[in-house]
Amino acid sequence: DRLPIRRALLSVSDKSGLIELGRALAEKGAQLLSTGGSAKALREAGLTVTDVSEHTGFPEILDGRVKTLVPQIHGGILGRRDLPAHVAQMQEHDIAPIDLVCVNLYPFAATVASGAGPEDCIENIDIGGPALIRAAAKNHAHVAILTEPAQYAALIDMLNAGGTTLEARRNWAGAAYAHTAAYDAMIAAWFARQEGEIFPPTMTLTGTRRELLRYGENPHQKAAFYVNGEKRAGIATATQVQGKALSYNNLNDTDAAFEAVAEFEEPTVVIVKHANPCGVATAQSLSDAWDAALKCDPVSAFGGIVALNRKLDAATAEKISAIFTEVIVAPDAEDAAKEILAKKKNLRLLLTGSVPAPDAEGLAFRSVAGGFLAQNRDAGRVTRADLRVVTTRAPTEAEMADLLFAFHVAKHVKSNAVIYAKNGATVGIGAGQMSRVDSARIAARKSEDAAQQAGESAPLTQGSVAASDAFFPFADGLESVVAAGAIAVIQPGGSIRDQEVIDAADRAGIAMVFTGMRHFRH
Ligand code: 5GP
Repeated sequence: DRLPIRRALLSVSDKSGLIELGRALAEKGAQLLSTGGSAKALREAGLTVTDVSEHTGFPEILDGRVKTLVPQIHGGILGRRDLPAHVAQMQEHDIAPIDLVCVNLYPFAATVASGAGPEDCIENIDIGGPALIRAAAKNHAHVAILTEPAQYAALIDMLNAGGTTLEARRNWAGAAYAHTAAYDAMIAAWFARQEGEIFPPTMTLTGTRRELLRYGENPHQKAAFYVNGEKRAGIATATQVQGKALSYNNLNDTDAAFEAVAEFEEPTVVIVKHANPCGVATAQSLSDAWDAALKCDPVSAFGGIVALNRKLDAATAEKISAIFTEVIVAPDAEDAAKEILAKKKNLRLLLTGSVPAPDAEGLAFRSVAGGFLAQNRDAGRVTRADLRVVTTRAPTEAEMADLLFAFHVAKHVKSNAVIYAKNGATVGIGAGQMSRVDSARIAARKSEDAAQQAGESAPLTQGSVAASDAFFPFADGLESVVAAGAIAVIQPGGSIRDQEVIDAADRAGIAMVFTGMRHFRH
């Protein structure tokens, strides 16, 4: 059932692996047809090649815009070898069958990324390539289609085994249509951007399957991980140094952890459980930051995901490996740190090379029944200059630093989020409650537990600052954080009852600042 390859059309922009492929084909006696640049590369390697223009008797014209768009080529690809009428017509018009098409497309994405002008970008829209790919994929019953160098080795193996199998040709065909669909989606998005539109009338989500996951959020759900080529340092670009394969939940949680740690400039540790931070701390060193982050909620930290924004050192690695941790993600790790972690066989270590900019643009998606929602990623980031003091008492310098820290943490905690912080570390995190008062109370109660664990008599929230991801709609939320011991508060403001809340803060003698920016995260 294996189909040999007697004639192959090679027309590639990315010439990597081309010579090896051409040589393997030639060794099996295949005739090589090729377009200008590809033919030149093959010839320079000493291979015998027929130019498409020679094969068709028609030159490449219009600066290469028309090279292969001729019946001799498309007929040779699309003709059915099992239909006598097709075979007869091919003979009548002197059309030779083509059994393999290997094409990769003009580098449109790279051209756009290089900052080229519109004319250059448009010239890099491949026309003949997608036509060849789609034709060969349609006729996969008789023709094999390759669209990227990573596929060449499998084809060469098949040649050595006598030819291509239908199953392989069908898989390549599916990949080929995904490839041209992604290519066109990329061009469509570029056109929309030219018009200043981020959200074009239609949108195609495209990605390459990186791996099939063992299961989804739960064992009865199937799942896969797709990457879209975005270069942002993180879960999609990281190298896994050790440990078992990441699960769906690991990937989701690790992403949340690393995005959160990227928010901070000083050495910072974020511990995440179920996509929510359960301890965040910045300090002079990662090792100190770890101690402070762990102290916030040592019970939840068990089996957590740890993200760091600095090269992981041995001392910190030693401390982290003392408790059960699922994943560590960091820009880099010292060799000594890697050695320490290597003793924990199941622990996954991911290295990202760098930390992404927290305010970089990008899109975020969420599925809903019958469609999906698209929005800009939350790149908002309040700074000192955005804060407006609304109470009689203004925060001290130290409180100001903690307020900003706590609000940056709040951005990465599910709403309703209330965060208590002291000395650059969270001391209580209330996440994902339907009422803000509940989030405030839960955070305070967790902080009492943490104080007990640490052998301290007063809850850690005593003398802390508090951050709320959205405004307090009533004074009760504020009164709740005051009751927990907070002495300064940061919140967006903007409620019709802001004055009631400000009055309550003044009555309690605490300082409060408004950010003017909300960080819902649902
Ligand atoms: P080469 O470097 O061999 O001269 O050109 C290879 C590229 O040309 C490939 O990326 C292929 O997709 C593209 N290509 C092949 N035929 C045509 C055609 O008829 N028109 C256009 N615009 N591109 C083509």
